[in-house]
Amino acid sequence: MTDTLPTVSRRGLMLVMSSPSGAGKTTISRALLERDPAIGMSVSATTRAPRPGEVDGKDYHFVTVEKFHEMVEQREFLEHARVFDNFYGTPRGPVDAILRSGRDVLFDIDWQGTQQMAQNARADLVSVFVLPPSVEELERRLRGRAQDSDEVVKKRMSKAGDEMSHWPEYDYIVVNVDLDKSIAAVQAILAAERLKRDRLVGLPDFVTRLRGEE
Ligand code: 5GP
Repeated sequence: MTDTLPTVSRRGLMLVMSSPSGAGKTTISRALLERDPAIGMSVSATTRAPRPGEVDGKDYHFVTVEKFHEMVEQREFLEHARVFDNFYGTPRGPVDAILRSGRDVLFDIDWQGTQQMAQNARADLVSVFVLPPSVEELERRLRGRAQDSDEVVKKRMSKAGDEMSHWPEYDYIVVNVDLDKSIAAVQAILAAERLKRDRLVGLPDFVTRLRGEE
């Protein structure tokens, strides 16, 4: 009787996406979230000022430096780092809640955060590094965004090289030439990772029962 078969479920995974600013990671993340209800986004806390259009609690939790340090002391972060001139951190509670609800969590964090996460949750971490197709395109995208001052754009361009040097620490590399193809690539990564044997729970019982009923 198939209705008495034990079920196979899976542990939620943590999908980390990193890239230099302007490579397209945020756009890819948004598309994944819209298309796949089984993914929840980790909303980071940051001390940087909101950009036009950014919503507190949705894009980031915008906090003061004092509040940020308090959260660090209270061990509220899964990881935290200084990026450019601001602090960023991943609140622990919402991530646990999403995983407990059987969904996957998507993180938009830098290489420092990814390293910290890798130390704590290696088996459930899947990391993707998004690269721009060229330096010119990276600069064009940063300027096109027109939300940051010239000075900030210059600073981010000069940091991009440093950030990109961390690509060997990631499981997957997506060169973002075409947005739709990049989204499809990350969806494919997710689809395959969800089927990894080690992530499946209840498989031995399931197969034993299947074999017994052959
Ligand atoms: P932005 O200020 O452009 O939103 O983000 C700047 C950088 O900080 C990006 O590379 C982004 O991935 C990273 N970042 C955002 N949130 C976090 C976080 O919670 N932890 C870490 N380590 N990096 C983050």
